[in-house]
Amino acid sequence: MKLVDNNELAAIKTRFGIEPLQNNFTLANLKKVFANRRVPIKSILMNQQKISGIGNIYASEILFAARVKPTRLAESLTAQEISKIFQASKTILKNAIKHRGTTFSDYVDASGKKGGFSKLLKVYEREGDSCRVCGGKIENMKISGRSTYFCPKCQK
Ligand SMILES: [Zn+2]
Repeated sequence: MKLVDNNELAAIKTRFGIEPLQNNFTLANLKKVFANRRVPIKSILMNQQKISGIGNIYASEILFAARVKPTRLAESLTAQEISKIFQASKTILKNAIKHRGTTFSDYVDASGKKGGFSKLLKVYEREGDSCRVCGGKIENMKISGRSTYFCPKCQK
């Protein structure tokens, strides 16, 4: 935690992008973030200067929910696909918070409870497993050095 004055606060805020569960996360703002960007959509979702608060696990899950392939260039997305990513970002993060996050080891929260979201993951760390929607095989590839899970049949 750090105490800062208003000038410093404004400077800090410019280093972080729009946040999925905040008021500045609107469809119009998301379209601006994606416009003219020739980089994979997964990289932008995880770029904290553009969009704050989406980590590696949730970026894969959001793109599966939106049926968008993680390698798609941000500028190539249709209005409908951006709208799906917009909705999925909010519902998946809300759901993750409700289930106290995603924990794989022995991490527990302050009340001693384990994170329960890992049971709800559709693609993350499910390489080779059957897709819960189409039955095809979940694949894994690296994007910007990070493991990225997706279903090649469901995600276009
Ligand atoms: Zn599938």
